Amino acid sequence: MTQLAPTAPLVRFAPSPTGYLHIGNARPALFNWLFARRHGGRFLLRYDDTDTQRSQAAFAEAIAEDLAWLGIHPDLTIRQSERLAIYDAAAERLRAAGRLYPCFETADELDRRRKRQLARGLPPVYDRAALKLTAEDRARLEAEGRKPHWRFRLEPRTVSWTDLVRGEAHVDCASLSDPVLAREDGSYLYTLPSVVDDAELGVTHVIRGEDHVTNTAVQIQIFEALGAPLPVFGHHNLLTTASGEGLSKRLGHLSLRGLRDSGVEALAVAALAVLVGSSDAVRPVASLDELAGLVELAHVSRAPAKFDEHELEALSARTLHQLPFEAVQPRLAALGVAGDEAFWLAVRGNLARLDEAKAWWRVVNGPLRPLLADAAFCAQAAALLPPEPFDATTWKSWTAAVSAATGLKGRALFMPLRQALTAQDHGPELAALLPLIGRERALKRLDGESA
Ligand code: GLU
Repeated sequence: MTQLAPTAPLVRFAPSPTGYLHIGNARPALFNWLFARRHGGRFLLRYDDTDTQRSQAAFAEAIAEDLAWLGIHPDLTIRQSERLAIYDAAAERLRAAGRLYPCFETADELDRRRKRQLARGLPPVYDRAALKLTAEDRARLEAEGRKPHWRFRLEPRTVSWTDLVRGEAHVDCASLSDPVLAREDGSYLYTLPSVVDDAELGVTHVIRGEDHVTNTAVQIQIFEALGAPLPVFGHHNLLTTASGEGLSKRLGHLSLRGLRDSGVEALAVAALAVLVGSSDAVRPVASLDELAGLVELAHVSRAPAKFDEHELEALSARTLHQLPFEAVQPRLAALGVAGDEAFWLAVRGNLARLDEAKAWWRVVNGPLRPLLADAAFCAQAAALLPPEPFDATTWKSWTAAVSAATGLKGRALFMPLRQALTAQDHGPELAALLPLIGRERALKRLDGESA
């Protein structure tokens, strides 16, 4: 981690552990992580798990794992379910300030009211009927066993902020319903705990999807009601499928683990996730730090970003093609590929997925059954194979000698040699492979022997 700047930013990624991360919700994670990297800040992982019905520990674990696969390693992790007392205290302060008020409407009642408003051409905004309840009304309702939910009383004014992505942003809160902050059973919806945590932990920048723009206006009013300083906000565009539909959690193959299992490079997922739809072309990167230098929140497009799986596959291949050996060595080793840097540089350009390196390792290291189309020709070529040591020029001088002896050129010369040495019609440059295969193995293969 870079050294902390004096005014080091603190950012956060705040998933609800109710499912696996997909490429769409990896975006806020990445935008925040890259922002922290770029500005010498810290990254907080916050599990928004106050919904105990839907939150699962297994999903929380999977989220941390998927973030690690992307290269995101939080500096700090917290769980909202462990911080309820802090939210209770904040709710109490809002109650005391007259900003949090009890409401007794049932979901059915609210629904009927909304329908009536819509039928009369009115916006379906909560009418604040509960604010008119007297102390006796409340006592009577409570005596009937009704439990209140709690709404935040919004001030009917326009809230403005300078958004890191969208520039000057304004939301008129007069047209919004007072948001419910706490349910009948005392549990909190996302809105209040998010503000309390951001304030308490000193989050400096809240970077999230533009589906939260209205929340931001509401949350700014809550920050202010609590007397907490405001973070800077940024709202990035949302990702849709190539045909323009929203990505849903049901799209299993676009889950980060689905992509990982299909062999897609994490760096390609990261680069596409944050550069897609931007004016800069999406390009392969060798590290998240490099990517951090390319992402300008102010340049993120306002239009929805379209995700194209073919683009991801192509970018994944291009990502592999430029990865340095040190970046892949542990992963090659895990695949049982013991090749060195020369091996990696020889084969990387031919890979669509890293595990294809296994097949090329076999080509270099054996055992391989050669493809012998013309045994006599291969025997003649074998006799001309120079002594070791082999280097990058060996292939050229050898094939020139074979060409001079046989009169063959081009494909007629190269294809039978490639087939004998690699058992394939296509592949990496033989000039690079031959020194890796070595003389002894090459001679055996030219003789039709498995080696
Ligand atoms: N749990 C919220 C979500 O996943 C967090 C939004 C935020 O970043 O404040 O949408």
